[in-house]
Amino acid sequence: MSKVYETIIIGAGIAGIAAAVYASRKRMKFLIFSEDFGGQVNVAGNIENYIGIAKTNWIEFGKQLQKQIEYNKIKINYEPVQTLKQEGKNFVVKTKNKSYETRTAIIASGARARKLNVIGEDKFANRGVTYCAICDGPLFKNKTVAVIGGGDSALEAAEFLLNIAKKIYILTVNDKMRGHEYLIENVVKHKKITIIPFAYTKEIYGDSFVKGLKYEQKEKIKDLKLDGIFVEIGRVPNTEIIKDLVSVEKDGHIIVDKHTATSVPGIFAAGDCTDIHTYQFIVAAGQGCTSLLSAAKYLQRNKES
Ligand code: NDP
Repeated sequence: MSKVYETIIIGAGIAGIAAAVYASRKRMKFLIFSEDFGGQVNVAGNIENYIGIAKTNWIEFGKQLQKQIEYNKIKINYEPVQTLKQEGKNFVVKTKNKSYETRTAIIASGARARKLNVIGEDKFANRGVTYCAICDGPLFKNKTVAVIGGGDSALEAAEFLLNIAKKIYILTVNDKMRGHEYLIENVVKHKKITIIPFAYTKEIYGDSFVKGLKYEQKEKIKDLKLDGIFVEIGRVPNTEIIKDLVSVEKDGHIIVDKHTATSVPGIFAAGDCTDIHTYQFIVAAGQGCTSLLSAAKYLQRNKES
């Protein structure tokens, strides 16, 4: 472990890629580790709110990101980071086979789908229960499905399923859907859609595959026959490897300041794993950029003696 990197970026979603592009342009000695490429771009469906691009989708946008990585000669190491620890003034990042020393680190590890934690959810995972409409939606052609959730993710999943499924129920625990107005416009009045308000999913049932779910509405248990269930009830930050080192919120989001600095000098964080709570690609890109510029400033101010 003789080489010391200037920064190591963890995650190759929008935030991590933005940090890597800036690191490359600054000709820094850096590495980027990730389990996948693009992070939540891969489950985004249509993208209509990235400034400078009127409308695109996850495939086209992903291709552009890939081009940008190649143009900037960035090599992503597709290895999960197992630990990140402080050693003296530096940090050590460990993967399965190797350790890497770095002066700064940028955590851009994103977030994953939250689970319902109801009876039958685990049993029918990948057998009708899914957390990704983009990935699994095409399996439900002309089927009757439910989307569970009341926010933008649920609306986006339903929008994607409009061209695939025969009938879509959306179960929200609230009185109505809450999300971007353009998504609400596209979805809620569509003839394929039925919104079920005040609906708390209690159980998912089936045999070898999902057959339906039971939900509680105004103290009555009701039944819905279904071929598939899309759970879209928010995100959980991927911060397990870092939560004992830096300050995090109760649910694990990393607390950052306006420069994306965490509670540990030299560690920065960007995107959906942070407590910024906007969950927008454009914000993740901005935070990724800020985190790299902040790391560069930190290196400048803390030159190796
Ligand atoms: P949100 O937290 O916005 O919404 C989650 C929804 O699920 C809420 O209606 C919530 O109810 C409900 N919910 C939570 N737990 C349960 C449960 N156990 N059972 C049933 N319902 C439950 O999450 P999203 O994933 O929709 O969005 C996350 C963030 O990402 C948001 O900031 C959103 O704006 C952003 N986003 C933006 C997109 C875009 O710009 N196109 C696309 C997708 C997401 P309650 O309100 O009562 O908590």
